[in-house]
Amino acid sequence: MSNIITRFAPSPTGHLHVGNVRAALFGYLFAKAAGGRYMLRLDDTDTERSTDEYARGIEADLAWLDLPHDIFARQSDRFAEYEAAAAKLKAAGRLYPCYETANELDRKRKRQLAMKKPPVYDRAALALTPDEIKAFEAEGRTPHWRFKLADEETSFDDLIHGPTRIDPASLSDPVLIREDGRFLYTLPSVVDDIDFAITHVIRGADHMTNTGVQVQITRALGAVPPTYAHFSLLLSVDGRPLSKRLDAEFSLNAMRADGYEPMAINSLLARLGTTDPVEAKLTVADLVTGFDITHLGRADIRFDPADLDKLNAAWLHILPYADAKSRLAVMDCDLGQAFWETVQPNLARFADVGLWASVVKGPVVPVIDDAAFAAAAASVLPPEPWTGDTWKLWTDAVKEKTGAKGRALFMPLRLALTAHEHGPELKNLLPLIGRERALARLSGASL
Ligand code: GLU
Repeated sequence: MSNIITRFAPSPTGHLHVGNVRAALFGYLFAKAAGGRYMLRLDDTDTERSTDEYARGIEADLAWLDLPHDIFARQSDRFAEYEAAAAKLKAAGRLYPCYETANELDRKRKRQLAMKKPPVYDRAALALTPDEIKAFEAEGRTPHWRFKLADEETSFDDLIHGPTRIDPASLSDPVLIREDGRFLYTLPSVVDDIDFAITHVIRGADHMTNTGVQVQITRALGAVPPTYAHFSLLLSVDGRPLSKRLDAEFSLNAMRADGYEPMAINSLLARLGTTDPVEAKLTVADLVTGFDITHLGRADIRFDPADLDKLNAAWLHILPYADAKSRLAVMDCDLGQAFWETVQPNLARFADVGLWASVVKGPVVPVIDDAAFAAAAASVLPPEPWTGDTWKLWTDAVKEKTGAKGRALFMPLRLALTAHEHGPELKNLLPLIGRERALARLSGASL
């Protein structure tokens, strides 16, 4: 086993949606392709917005996607570690108390903007005298705490974006602890990445601006920063950022209810935006093979549900009977391997199988325009046993007897036998329907 460890770090403040899946997938696939381990970390320091229900939902979604984690942690269990890291930063003079109210900070920002200056925090708190601090505390103010960015070039070698340099002078010293004592996301994330020996942080490009700060905090805590990879964000088909509100149908819950297969979602999202072909893979293990994070491009990519529909169908078309069997049984549609293989090419959703099972089992209300034609066809129906050749033998005989050919020959037979204009190949369907039901249907009876 290699020492590679990646993590997926969702905040349990909502349901997972299609955009989050890429962070999970890339972390999982990268680790597994390298013989490493993958961690699920719940970033639940925001105790107001995080809920157990969302946390359970995330775990259930990841299980459904078949992305099991090797390591698990939740940040709400680890406050002692974050306090210890904060104490270390304070002792080193890298974490300092600030007493400005939100309003005061807002006024400062507005003044800076009016003077056409970047709205970077002015570090006024560093100049406070002990008496001024006492006075604030006497007023009942409690401090929030900022990390003092070092004025040193901060760079990292991003696996997708290449060498990236951040100018700390363009950034405000980030607030790590709020005035109510709660940790914001940044410090716990760095502490966990260090403590769990995360080697690769793979996450959305929206976090790129955090990375310079996190690299500095990691070093201030005496550790070596992990390698970063920031993948571009998923946009809607019309090019706007996906939003939880506008794109509720792309939460995993909704997609599951819509009948999408987890492997259709995985197959699309693991390769979309890479130089590799997007094709349906049967299992996650098949996606691990050939996964290379450096094949991801930097351009934003669009999520088109039509692509998902295509892959959903393509995945069903490669699903072996052995893997479909238990699901067929649950639907009371397990009519054997020959049935599965006959109807499989016609499925867009797994549930469509129910229609074809009912066509085979009946009763079907046959659609017959020309009763004389149907009777003529019935009169030359071969005796059983029926095989894959029966359809050809029969239709040749019908052609000979009635003179009908092409669509005029096949469509009335399909409509009489199945009541549908389209469907699985009749060559395969006919033996499943059997002679008794075929005869009844050709005579106009429901069976
Ligand atoms: N909890 C953060 C998020 O959901 C994690 C970001 C990261 O991967 O560091 O955006």
